[in-house]
Amino acid sequence: MAQFLATIPLPAEVLHLIMRELDPIALIALSQTSREWRALIRPNRHDFEQRLLALELHPHHGGLVPYWDDHKQRLAPSWDSPEWKTAKYACCGCMKLRTHMMFDNHAILRRRWRKPYAGCVEFDKALRTDWEPFEPALRWQHIQERAQKERQDRQAWAAVAAWREEYRLANPPEHNFIAVDLPPTDQEKEALRHLVGANRQRRRCVECQRKAGRWKHQDASSADGKVKPIVAKSRSKTFKVVWERWVPGLFDEHPGVFPLYWRSLNNYRNGIYASLYVAWCPRCETWKEYAAFRDWHPYNNGEGLTGERREFACVQCALEEQAEPRRVVEELCDQLRHLLDLEGAEHRLGFGWRFISQDLQAHPRDRGIRAEVLEGVRFRADSASQSPVINESTLPDLRRRVVRYRQYMYNEADKETRDRQVMSWFKMWLDEYELLEDAYFLVKRLHDKLRTGHLNFILDYLKTQDPYRLQSGVWW
Ligand SMILES: [Zn+2]
Ligand SMILES: [Zn+2]
Repeated sequence: MAQFLATIPLPAEVLHLIMRELDPIALIALSQTSREWRALIRPNRHDFEQRLLALELHPHHGGLVPYWDDHKQRLAPSWDSPEWKTAKYACCGCMKLRTHMMFDNHAILRRRWRKPYAGCVEFDKALRTDWEPFEPALRWQHIQERAQKERQDRQAWAAVAAWREEYRLANPPEHNFIAVDLPPTDQEKEALRHLVGANRQRRRCVECQRKAGRWKHQDASSADGKVKPIVAKSRSKTFKVVWERWVPGLFDEHPGVFPLYWRSLNNYRNGIYASLYVAWCPRCETWKEYAAFRDWHPYNNGEGLTGERREFACVQCALEEQAEPRRVVEELCDQLRHLLDLEGAEHRLGFGWRFISQDLQAHPRDRGIRAEVLEGVRFRADSASQSPVINESTLPDLRRRVVRYRQYMYNEADKETRDRQVMSWFKMWLDEYELLEDAYFLVKRLHDKLRTGHLNFILDYLKTQDPYRLQSGVWW
C-alpha cells in the first residue's frame, strides 16, 4: 500500500476526498483497476448495490426512466410505448440489471421501488457515492446508522404523503362519486421527492421471488398431484390484432383499419388491450411469456382449449420431447384457426343481408332497386340465417349490391325509411362493409397459410425466433 501510494504524489487524505466525489459506478470501476485501488477502496455489498441502482438510472444501461404521476395515477410513457423496449431494472437479489419483463407490476410501480426521477433524494445518490475511508466494521456501522435514520425520515414523509387519503377517510364526501381534484401541495411534492425509489435495494425479479419461495404454495401440492403453474402478471398493452398477442411476429401481414364490428379480433378500432403474464416452465427452468404454454388462458391450471389436462411446459420443451414435433405445431395451428375464426368472418360479412332482404321484400316500394340488389343472390341452404353464399367468387358481386343498396338508402330513399332501417348494428355493417371485406380476406389468407403440410414456417418461427423468451424483446 505504502509503495502504491508513494507512486501518486498526493497524500492519502486527498485521494480519499477525490474518491468521495466519485459516483457509485466510477468508484467500483476504480476499485477494479488494480489490486492496490481495491485494497484502498475495499468495496462492500452496499457499494455494489449502490452501483447497480445507479446503473439502472443510466440511460445507456438501464434505459427508460418512466414517470408515474401519483396525482393523476398515470404512467408516462404508457406501457404501449416502444421506449419500454430499453427499460431494465436492478434486482439486488441476483445483483443483475434485467429486462423489465422479469419484474411484476408492483416491482416497477410501487412508490418505494420505482426508478426515481431527477430531483429525488434517491436520484442524487446515483450522482455521488456515500463511501467513507473507514475500516470495514466502522463503515458498516455507519451504513446501518444512516439507513436507520433514513427509515425514520421516510416514515415522517410517508405520513405527509398520506394526508389526503386519511383526510378523505376521516371526512367522507357526501356522495361517493364527487371527485375532489386538488392539485398536489408543495409538502406532498417534497414527500414524494424523499420517498420515490427509496427502497429499491429490496426490489426482486420474479426469479429471485420464486427462489425465495413466493409461489411455494403452488408447488406440487395441489389436490390432484399436478404442479400448478407459477404465473406473475406483467404489463398490459394494446395489440393491433388478437393473434399478435399470442404469436407476435409470426405473420408478416398486418391489417390497416379494422371494422368496429369485429369484437373478437380487436376490442376497439385501435386494437385489443391485453395483459401479458410471465410463467415459469418447470421443465427448462426458464421464465417465458404465457403464450408459450399453449393453453392460452392464465390460471386455468393446465386445462387447454381442448379440455385435456397435461403437464405445464413451454412449447419449446414440448417440441424437444415430442418424437413428432408436427403434433405440437398442429395443435398450435388448431388454436390459431380458432382465433382467426373464419366462420365468424363469413358470418360478419353475411350479417346485414337479412335486413336488406326483409326491407326490400316487406316494402315493395321500388321494384327497380329490389331487382338490382336482391335478384340472383344465391342464399345459403339453411334459410334461417338468410345469409348469401360467401366465397371469393361471390364476393365482388355481393359488394356491388351492398354498395348499390347503401347508395339507395342514403341518397334515394325517404328520410323515414332511412331512419327506420339504417340503425344500430346494421348501420355499422352497411357503413363499414368494405372494411369487413378487407378483414375477411386477411383472415382467409392467414387461414390458408395454416394448411396442413405447409407448417414449416411455424416450426422455424418457434425454433429460431424463440418469441416467448422474455429477453427476446418481441413484445415491444
Ligand atoms: Zn433477481
Ligand atoms: Zn420449457
